[in-house]
Order: sequence, then C-alpha cells, then structure tokens
Amino acid sequence: MTDAALPERLARAITLGGPMPVAYYMAAANAHYYATRDPLGTAGDFTTAPEISQMFGEMVGLWLADTWLRSGQVKPHYVELGPGRGTLAADALRSMAKFGLEPDVHLVETSPVLRKMQEKRLPGATWHDDVSTLPQDGPLLVVANEFFDALPIHQLVKGADGWHERLVACQDTLFLPIAGKLVPQEIIPEALHSAPQGSIIETSPASVAITRSLADQIVAQGGVMIIIDYGYDSGPSLGETLQAVSKHAYANPFEEPGERDLTAHVDFETLGAMAEMCGARVHGPVGQGDWLRGIGIVERAATLKSSAPDRAADMDAAVDRLTSDGQMGRLFRAMAVSAPHWPKPEGFGAPR
Ligand code: SAH
Repeated sequence: MTDAALPERLARAITLGGPMPVAYYMAAANAHYYATRDPLGTAGDFTTAPEISQMFGEMVGLWLADTWLRSGQVKPHYVELGPGRGTLAADALRSMAKFGLEPDVHLVETSPVLRKMQEKRLPGATWHDDVSTLPQDGPLLVVANEFFDALPIHQLVKGADGWHERLVACQDTLFLPIAGKLVPQEIIPEALHSAPQGSIIETSPASVAITRSLADQIVAQGGVMIIIDYGYDSGPSLGETLQAVSKHAYANPFEEPGERDLTAHVDFETLGAMAEMCGARVHGPVGQGDWLRGIGIVERAATLKSSAPDRAADMDAAVDRLTSDGQMGRLFRAMAVSAPHWPKPEGFGAPR
C-alpha cells in the first residue's frame, strides 16, 4: 500500500516543491491516520464522549427531537460529520425514534476503516465524502462531535519583521516547522499587529467553508446543527493549539506524520460569525457540561439508575466525566446553528 510510506512521500514532496503549509501537512497526516485505523477507545489513541456513555448520544437525540417536534415536523435528514464508530448516531437515532422521529441517515466520512464500522451500526445510511452532496431538500439535523478539531489549520508566526506563514520543512526524515514568506500586514487583525515575536495565529479555512455550506442549507431547508468540540469562544488567540495525541498522551505533531492524531482548537467565534452571515441563528458556545445539564442529563441518569441500580456508580462516573469542569465539561464547548424560522434550541440560555 503506497500510504505505508507517508513520511517518505511527504519528505519527497517537500524536497521537490519546497516546505509546505502546516495545513497541507496536517491534512495529509490525518487522512492517513484515520484511513488506516480505528483510533477510538482505551486500546486506541483517544476516547470521545459517545464512547464514554450511551447517555451522550441519547441526549443529542433528545435535543434534536425536542427542536424538531417544536418545528413544522417536516421529514428531516440526520447528518453526522465524522461519525467515528457510529456510536453517537446509533444512540441518538434510538432516542429520536421514541418521539416518532425517524430520519434517513447521511454520514460524512472519509475513512474506509471507520465507514466499515459505521455500516455495521447504521445499515441503510448513505455515505458522503464531503458536505457538497448532502440532500438539498428537507430539514437537516446535523451533528459534529470532535470533527472540526481534526480539520487542517494554517498557522502564521510572528517574526521580527512581521507575520509569516508557518511551513513544514524536512531534513532527512525529520520534519520541523519554519517561518515561510512574509504575509501582507493587511490580512492580520488590527489587534494582533503588535503581538510579541514568536506568537502564532491559527485559522481553518476548511472549517469555515463547511460551516458556511451547512448554514446555507439549514437557512434554506430548515434544521439545526450542534457542534461540540474543544476550542475557544473568542478567537483567534495568539497561542499554538496544534497538538498530537498518541495512546492517550500528548506527542510532537511534527514526528511520525500519519501515526498520531493531529488536532487544533476550534475557533467557535469565527464559525458562529460565518453561520450568522449566512442568515442562521447561533446559540452558544456554552460549556458541554452546562449544555448537557441544561437539557437534562442528570434526570436521564437518574432514570437509567433506577432501572439498573447495580450500574449506578458507573453512570455517576460517566456524568461526572462528561459534565464536570475538571473533565470535559468546560474545555469542550457546544454551539448550535439553527434556521431563523425554527424554534430556539434548548440548553443555551438567551441567544446572542
Ligand atoms: N465523532 C466521533 C469521532 C471523532 S474522530 C466521536 O465522537 O467518537 C474524527 C472523525 O472525523 C473520524 O470519524 C474521522 O474519520 C473523521 N474525519 C476526519 N477528517 C475528516 C474529513 N476531512 N472529512 C470527513 N471526515 C473526517
């Protein structure tokens, strides 16, 4: 398989074409990484909320059902971006079905390995390589959990003479970030002009383009989208958030490309601004803990505990992991995008 030699192919591309933008490196590394393994769970590299407890997907399903029941109840499409093992979708669909909501299922997934796992959990789904082929009629109920953090980012780094695009160079088989050409000062937000040397700005044009496409469709067709990821509410900040995770520990993102999960914090402010520009309503971001508590995860856990008292301690532990500040409750943010003619989704307090 040609992909087995990704570091060699990247090194060759850099030798022939010169150092490449961080975004190209990240895209190539993650495409290989996800295409060649199931990264999730204790035996893998990282664990996500739906893999911690079925309650996570159930709450997402409940939230979608509640919003849909208060809308015109036109038959919708369930759309998930980067569905992993399909666990969230399976839990959400089961919980939606209790309310008579049985949408057809559209999964945006590039990894053949993960598509195979999703097929087992979600027979009858339709797979898409990207968002451009999603259905053009009927409301969309869109879910993206830990999807946007995997999309490629560009980095700019501040030098003595101004901001430079950050590139990835290669010496033998060692990859390292270097400062590339100076970028025009006009593309840098005013507030960042006097940033200290060494500062880094990150942007993700791929994330913005996907948000725009989905927000356009939601405005035209009706629907709602929930984005859950770790990130910052007001950005872009001046820090580097590109990171690699391998076997549940942080690793150097410029080593072993394609063998480590590369992620960056999600810039919710920019994604929200794009959705609003498209005419959609934006709710949040709020902490994942606040959102889950606001839509009733504690009550859901109590119901589950009363029917399975022997598992009560496990469920309390799962709720704690998903909602408490020291765990996933605060670092992970939840933001919703809804059609202007749709009801306000629960869990976000007042709209911005
Ligand atoms: N949402 C899942 C999995 C998160 S891991 C969960 O919460 O458990 C990231 C997911 O996004 C994987 O399914 C991965 O294959 C997918 N993915 C990564 N980059 C992608 C891209 N550019 N297009 C579509 N899917 C992508």
